[in-house]
Amino acid sequence: MDPSEQRIKIAVQKTGRLTDHSIDLLERCGLKMTKSKDQLICYGENMPIDLLLVRDDDIPGLVSEDVCDLGIVGLNMVEEKRLNREADGQPAQCKRVFQLDFGHCRLSLAGPEDTPYDGPKSLENTRIATSYVGLLNQYLKSNNITAEAVYFSGAVEIAPKLGRAEYICDLVSTGSTLKANGLVEKEVLLESEAVVIQTQKPLGEEKQALVDKILQRLDGVLQVRESKYIMLHAPKSALAQIRDLLPGSEAPTVLALDGSDDKVAVHAVCRENVFWETLENLKAAGASSLLVLPVEKMLA
Ligand code: ATP
Ligand code: ZN
Repeated sequence: MDPSEQRIKIAVQKTGRLTDHSIDLLERCGLKMTKSKDQLICYGENMPIDLLLVRDDDIPGLVSEDVCDLGIVGLNMVEEKRLNREADGQPAQCKRVFQLDFGHCRLSLAGPEDTPYDGPKSLENTRIATSYVGLLNQYLKSNNITAEAVYFSGAVEIAPKLGRAEYICDLVSTGSTLKANGLVEKEVLLESEAVVIQTQKPLGEEKQALVDKILQRLDGVLQVRESKYIMLHAPKSALAQIRDLLPGSEAPTVLALDGSDDKVAVHAVCRENVFWETLENLKAAGASSLLVLPVEKMLA
């Protein structure tokens, strides 16, 4: 077998909103790779994993066509390409295997702020500019609305001003682009974030074991981002109350304190951020010597 066939290929966005997060995440999973800005492929130096740097639009296709084993891409793109393939009579050949914690946005319908809007029926017989024709048509169909999807590859938000459409359907995160163009969000069609997708094709034992290892490490990386290790001293009488105040922690470790009969040391991993208010509440409950440490790695 060609040795390159044994390596895992992961499709990642070359330049854009997902790029830095995707590469940072893989590096946190322990992957070291050769990097150069204009490269199409980054070769993993310490694991048999290579990254293909491509446009995000191409990622679902590359994974569906088995050119890549995994891909990191927005759910919006995965769903749109699935619907496009379906419309062409091709089955979707990739599956979603992991949800990430970045790339949050929503696919929304928006219209001019001075246009009265009375629910989806206001869209009847209008033109809607979008790059997401598949998802828009699916929405229109499920709401029994006849409207025309006008394809725009970018700068969708200027379509109403150009007189090309009455509404737009585009990705929104803060809403500032819509506002700057005098548009108001009317409906949310899809909540999206970055996900890991995998080819449907069986990978073979070795490759699948490596994919499972990466997914497990990803899980660990995502968990430690918010996690903190907290240590404190507590009077035995306040233990139950202090335990309740520890945010998102499972059973804490309770240790005897040398030379003290009424106080114990409590150590816990909190899977949520620990805010000043929490520490103040713990102190008010009787805790002392409070220490909060970041967590470097975690393996469930
Ligand atoms: P490419 O050149 O790779 O095609 P692009 O311009 O299509 O780049 P980006 O704007 O970098 O793509 O967006 C990539 C992904 O980031 C989107 O598909 C979406 O999943 C996510 N995203 C998060 N917030 C936003 C936002 N406010 N606008 C657009 N995309 C967003
Ligand atoms: Zn794109």
